[in-house]
Amino acid sequence: MKNILKIEQLLKQKNIKSTAMRNMVLQYFLETDIAIDLKNLETHFYFSDKTTLFRTIKTFQEKGLIHAIKDGSNTTKYALCSEQCTSDNHIDIHPHFYCEKCKQTTCLRLVSLPILSIGNDFTIHSTELIIKGICNHCNSVA
Ligand SMILES: [Zn+2]
Ligand SMILES: [Zn+2]
Ligand SMILES: [Zn+2]
Repeated sequence: MKNILKIEQLLKQKNIKSTAMRNMVLQYFLETDIAIDLKNLETHFYFSDKTTLFRTIKTFQEKGLIHAIKDGSNTTKYALCSEQCTSDNHIDIHPHFYCEKCKQTTCLRLVSLPILSIGNDFTIHSTELIIKGICNHCNSVA
C-alpha cells in the first residue's frame, strides 16, 4: 500500500484514530478525484458492516477530513477536505461541478467562489455553488 504513510499522516493531522476500516475508506477517497456517495461506498465495501461504514463517514465529516456535497441529485456525496479544515470549521469554499452525463461530481479546488455582497442584514455561514454541464472525461470520449 503506497499511500499508507499519507493515510496515517492525514488521520493524525485531523485527530482521528487509525483503524483498519478508516484506513481503507480514506485510501478509497485518496484514489479518486470524484465525489463518492454512500451507495457507492457500500458497493465498494460490500464486505463491511453498513453501520460501521456510515459511522466512519460521519467521523470523517465531523473531524474535517471530508465534506458533504449536495449536487441536486438525491444523494449526498462526499469528498476530501483541504488540509485547513477542522472539526469546527469547514473551509471548502470551492464550487462543485456536476456532470449531467455521467452524474459524477468533482471538487473544483482551484477555483474560488466569488464574495457576494448581500448586505449587512444577513450573516453568511456557507456558500454553495454547483456548476452543471459535461465533465472533461465525458467531453473527451464524445
Ligand atoms: Zn472541509
Ligand atoms: Zn461526465
Ligand atoms: Zn468539494
